[in-house]
Amino acid sequence: MKPARFDYVRAESVDHALEVLSQNGDEAKIIAGGQSLMPMINFRLVKPSVLIDINRIPGLEIIEDKGDRVHMGALARHRMTACDATIRRKIPVLHEVMHHVAHMTIRNRGTFCGSVCHADPAAEMPMIVQMLDGEIEIASASKRRVLPAAAFLVGSLVNALEPDEMVTGITIGTSPAGAGWAFEEFSRRHGDFAMAAIAVTLRTDDGRAIRDARIGMTGVGETAMRLHGLETLLEERQLDDLLLGEVAEWLNDNLSPNADIHASADYRRNLSGVLAGRAIRRAHARALEMRT
Ligand code: FAD
Repeated sequence: MKPARFDYVRAESVDHALEVLSQNGDEAKIIAGGQSLMPMINFRLVKPSVLIDINRIPGLEIIEDKGDRVHMGALARHRMTACDATIRRKIPVLHEVMHHVAHMTIRNRGTFCGSVCHADPAAEMPMIVQMLDGEIEIASASKRRVLPAAAFLVGSLVNALEPDEMVTGITIGTSPAGAGWAFEEFSRRHGDFAMAAIAVTLRTDDGRAIRDARIGMTGVGETAMRLHGLETLLEERQLDDLLLGEVAEWLNDNLSPNADIHASADYRRNLSGVLAGRAIRRAHARALEMRT
């Protein structure tokens, strides 16, 4: 398919992009990596009359260490996230996640913030921002605001941006000291969107019991999500088959995945329990290693 006609504006600065957004509102779309937007435009699922290209704006292609948080600029590419030394050291679960995201060519262009804005219910970045207390930095010509990830991700392909707003960056929390981590996903081919995926970080205490678990999932609901209830279930528990049975039961009772041509809702619920068991075991083993 060919796209419908649109005007193209190459923004020279954030203020320039915001000015064009304020003049065009609903009719305009920001383009970052274009890896999700261009297919949607080509299939005419969206028909913006103005595309605002932010790729030449200086200062946005950046990942910054802010101590106990990491700042992802609006043009931090997937490739940068996958290779960044700070992320590898301070948020190893994100480093592991990135090797499951799409393919090399898509990673070269696709952006962390673009993925969060796109809010695909099977994408990994929306899961990470939920799980790691992500804060979304939002700007319009008239104001700046910051939204927690859970408030930003409204539904499948829906975010909380007003028509005249763009995301200028996102900050995420780093892993607590001594936390083990793991990411498990099931997809039909490597690089495809996940049918279900789970990310876990946790610490262990002197008696090997689980502490401070954080769990995010994607592919099993209208949006990626953080599973606070499951985190509570794990707190101060020993890792054994009984606990993992309870985890699978909890997921079965609390998830409402969609059915599609790839898998039924029941299949996804069952898959979630299997992936959760693997991820919790691996995160726990890593947490124990870090204590030695
Ligand atoms: P774009 O396509 O440029 O934009 C996407 C949407 O976000 C648009 O509506 C755009 O207007 C909006 N937007 C972008 N940036 C901003 C901003 N700063 N402010 C406001 N709005 C903004 N993703 C995964 O997570 N996991 C996968 O396994 C995966 N597999 C893929 C496989 C294929 C074959 C393809 C084509 C894509 C895949 N993706 C996957 C998606 C990929 O990660 C995209 O790069 C990402 O979803 C969108 O990022 P982008 O920078 O390309 O955004």
